[in-house]
Amino acid sequence: MESTPAVEQARAVLTGGLGPALKRSDAPAFGCFPVYSPFELFRAAGLLPVGLMGAGGQIDIVHADARFQSFVCSIAKSSLELAFQKRLQGMEGAVFHSICDVARNLASVFKRNFPAMHIEYIHLPQNSAGPEVEDYLVSEYRRVMAGLEARLGRRVEDAAVSAAIREYNRPRRLMRELYAMRTKEPERINSSELFMLVRAGTMLPPDEHSRILEAAKLEFAARKTKRMDRVRVVIEGAFCEQPPVGLLETLEGAGCYLVEDDFCAGWRWFTQDVPEGPDPVRQLARAWLENGRATSTRFDPERPRHKALVRRVRETGAQAVIFMPAKFCEPALFDYVLYRREMEKENIPHLMVEFEEKMWTFERTRGEVETFVESLLFD
Ligand code: SF4
Repeated sequence: MESTPAVEQARAVLTGGLGPALKRSDAPAFGCFPVYSPFELFRAAGLLPVGLMGAGGQIDIVHADARFQSFVCSIAKSSLELAFQKRLQGMEGAVFHSICDVARNLASVFKRNFPAMHIEYIHLPQNSAGPEVEDYLVSEYRRVMAGLEARLGRRVEDAAVSAAIREYNRPRRLMRELYAMRTKEPERINSSELFMLVRAGTMLPPDEHSRILEAAKLEFAARKTKRMDRVRVVIEGAFCEQPPVGLLETLEGAGCYLVEDDFCAGWRWFTQDVPEGPDPVRQLARAWLENGRATSTRFDPERPRHKALVRRVRETGAQAVIFMPAKFCEPALFDYVLYRREMEKENIPHLMVEFEEKMWTFERTRGEVETFVESLLFD
């Protein structure tokens, strides 16, 4: 399938990496480590939230290895390495969240080694249930706003948070629409294309990202397509560190249509628009609790994530699940046990494909996926 101008634009953003992203806008950039960040708070403070999501295999790890033990995911080491190699210059600060021990330690390592950066750590609720959780999250967001005010020497107004919610709702809505289009007609959009379109948004101002997404929607709708004999799969486990584009192309080439995934999960966190209205900080907190994704980095007893995965499989008409955790990603690997048990109970075929940023050859994966696909197509 021939690429489109919007996809090529997204590819160029991705290839350029964080360097151009830090100079792209008049607003100083603020790094957001995955998974979810309340981007609106940083935007309201006059900053440009950008994804601090590793280096995608584009740099050699020289300094970061000495700050972490060996068995740690690539995203943590390469994000840190970017800072040591002075590739984050121009970044006002960065925010990390309570998603795992690695992210927690990374926040402290950044703080100690780069004292000029404003480092925030958001304690997202460990348990999403209970009447007091919303108040807690609001107070946590207000604490972050106060920290930004002290750093920048200006007020972060609620009206600016409302404006930022409106700004980010647009690309989030467009990404939902593109995902729905791919689920319905996966032959119309390659998953590697959709991945690049979404990932570009982690390095662009929201209005610029929206323009690219809108153009892509029109280009995809105009494509002449032909459905192939492939297996429809849901990808689970790549919510934090992001896979190389080559791996997605390999999955597609081996006979899969990816009809749902959790790539860049934090940038597509909400299942619907964040409501605009009075007390926007509360709206944001409530949306996180009520309309957020079920992932391995949050516990919600009312919406168990293994049940949510089964629902996603059924809703998208998928025939199988591919678990795709980053190497050494504890939340994803611990959950594999939970998911696997549920898939077996529900009779949903599944396969595990681990990845890391610096993955150059995909031949072994291709062979495994082809065998898996054949076992489903010719069973
Ligand atoms: S990839 Fe996994 S282990 Fe690494 S920082 Fe992200 S959630 Fe934590």
